Amino acid sequence: MQKLQTGDHNLVKQINKSIVFGLIESKGPMSRAQISKNTGLNKATVSTMVSELINDSFVYEIEAGQSSGGRKPVMLYFNNHTGYSIGIDLGVNYILGVLTDLSGNIIEETTRDLNGIEFDYVIENLISLVEALIEKAPQSTYGIIGIGVGVPGNVDKEDKILFAPNLKWKQVDLKQVIENKFNIPTKIENEANAGSHGERLYGAGKNISNIIYISIGIGIGTGIIINNDLYTGSSGISGEMGHFTIEANGRKCSCGNRGCWELYASESALLRAAEKHDLSKKEHKIDLDYLINEAQIGNTEVLQLLNTLGENIGIGLTNIVNTFNPEVVVIGNRIAQFETWIANPIDHVLEERLSTYHKDSTEIRFSKLGKRSCAIGASSFSISMFLSDKRVSVR
Ligand SMILES: [Zn+2]
Repeated sequence: MQKLQTGDHNLVKQINKSIVFGLIESKGPMSRAQISKNTGLNKATVSTMVSELINDSFVYEIEAGQSSGGRKPVMLYFNNHTGYSIGIDLGVNYILGVLTDLSGNIIEETTRDLNGIEFDYVIENLISLVEALIEKAPQSTYGIIGIGVGVPGNVDKEDKILFAPNLKWKQVDLKQVIENKFNIPTKIENEANAGSHGERLYGAGKNISNIIYISIGIGIGTGIIINNDLYTGSSGISGEMGHFTIEANGRKCSCGNRGCWELYASESALLRAAEKHDLSKKEHKIDLDYLINEAQIGNTEVLQLLNTLGENIGIGLTNIVNTFNPEVVVIGNRIAQFETWIANPIDHVLEERLSTYHKDSTEIRFSKLGKRSCAIGASSFSISMFLSDKRVSVR
């Protein structure tokens, strides 16, 4: 038999350590004996790995378990406060930032409205928001372990923003700008991809393998999860379903196409329709809050607009369900607040237009994380990067 090389020993050790850590992280609290039983690793190996994880401050132990007569078992916990992560949802007209622990729980949250889309203006706001979140972070061993940013545009595999039509940004290296400023590892991702990641880990897509996440805000983006993996295409820019045509001779879109889905089924489509109907009676600014209020008090014109919006969303969903046959479609981002009024029209359209087989196998859900899906998902990307780094680090 061939003798293992030193490198192989290190690799085996790293793998074992990852297995032990992964188990405590996902199934903890657990005792060393339970870990040994679950993993098949012998007790000495488990003890060594656990000691290292405690030294690294990823795990801590508490002698609190009950045992029948004998010694009380020592239980091991994932120390999810050993570092903190920042997640940013860079919208077109707002920035939402969260500070989370290493399990994705929100510690702090802050939002800023944006009144412009010029790069310098947006970056200035983004940086001061990140600074505010860093200041709020409790003391910890690793401090801020990463910054994740979800952006409304195409992001390539090197994290470069190729094109963000609603921000009118092209070829922007946001990762470099943030890393230069804060010296913290930064991950840039398309906002719908980040949202789908957040919903799959903690929200409406939990434990589902095939999900299409539809982020409906100013525009429409989609995150595609196939067999538990985010599908990003050959160069990282898949999922631009907001720009498939639903009206052959429709209006011209900023993407270059005509009659794009997002021109009829997004937040901007709703606001434009409301302005056209002169719904404000000149007293109020027409925004989403105003429309929600009006819908709640039964303003029939607003209800009619929301019905049309729901139908238009349903038309796009028909194409998506026919293409992907997903287990679950999650509707998220800011339009999800209108669930009460758009859920039925969406269902009616799917009922009319989908084949029985598709209707039976796909469920439409609304986001559970609400407007926070993208920020939490972006933070989770940073956490995954940090942990995978640590799990295989050679000590
Ligand atoms: Zn378009």
